[in-house]
Amino acid sequence: MRILVTGAAGFLGSHLSRYLLGKGHSVVGLDNFITGNVDNIQDLFKDGKFEFVKYDVTNYLHVPGKLDAVLHFASPASPIDYLKYPIPTLKVGALGTHKALGLAKAKNAIFMIASTSEVYGDPLINPQHESYWGNVNPIGPRGVYDEAKRFAEAMTMAYHRYHGMQVRILRIFNTYGPNMRLEDGRAVPNFMVQALKNKPITVYGDGLQTRSLCYVSDLIDGIYRLLNSGINEPVNIGNPRELTLLELAQMVKTAAGSKSKIIFQPLPEDDPKVRKPDITRAKKDLKWQPKVSLEEGLRKTVAYFKSRV
Ligand code: UDP
Repeated sequence: MRILVTGAAGFLGSHLSRYLLGKGHSVVGLDNFITGNVDNIQDLFKDGKFEFVKYDVTNYLHVPGKLDAVLHFASPASPIDYLKYPIPTLKVGALGTHKALGLAKAKNAIFMIASTSEVYGDPLINPQHESYWGNVNPIGPRGVYDEAKRFAEAMTMAYHRYHGMQVRILRIFNTYGPNMRLEDGRAVPNFMVQALKNKPITVYGDGLQTRSLCYVSDLIDGIYRLLNSGINEPVNIGNPRELTLLELAQMVKTAAGSKSKIIFQPLPEDDPKVRKPDITRAKKDLKWQPKVSLEEGLRKTVAYFKSRV
């Protein structure tokens, strides 16, 4: 296949592009480098099947030649990034999704939107099944991301229903691994950098809020299975092992062999209290489930951060 990946220089886009090239596909990568980093894809430029264009996907999108799939992964993805880039976050989820859908339609390609567990907001049920409609504050600081992704899902379903397009709606839960930015601001990179520098590890709130963390290679495997499935409805991809942020801070500290203290800082507004994917659908329909334990994933991630700090 010849596959377009938007956000190809980002954390997930770079892993996904490398994986697709490894499977023998051709990849056209786009990124405007707001939060992407060319270092993440440096090795791919040697591959004759990789093309890259620095581009902002919220503008009219023209790609010469055939495309079999359009995978829309471009977006700021960390809470501090949406605070810094609220309007680009809304634009890439809304206008960018529309442009990418239009391109996929013109090329008769499968369209995939990288959606998120954030469509469930601060969920009132735990774990979250795909049938849950969510609990989102549209005007809160996270609303720019949550609502852009909800709009993106609505737009994607409209193209599926109205134009009969093949679409894939991937709801990504917290994912970690190499290629995350050191200054990304999310829990894993913050804790890693702090632990490796023996600086205080900053846990927000009382640290009893929960997340469920998926190692990046498991996520990419799930994405590829979803792409090749015939499923047009949303599918959760994530690791259902739920833990508190305090437990995570302690595990990162151990994995890094760190002497850091754990300190508490204020909880950001609208920070979800719980998050855990119900992966019944992915298990049944994609025959997918995560394989990498948190301990192993954290070891691999520490090695990456060690080489960067
Ligand atoms: N968090 C934390 N310390 C940090 C960064 C994040 O305790 O230095 C918390 C944050 O408040 C949230 C959880 O970790 O409860 C996960 O945050 P992240 O930014 O990784 O992503 P989110 O799951 O909120 O989208």
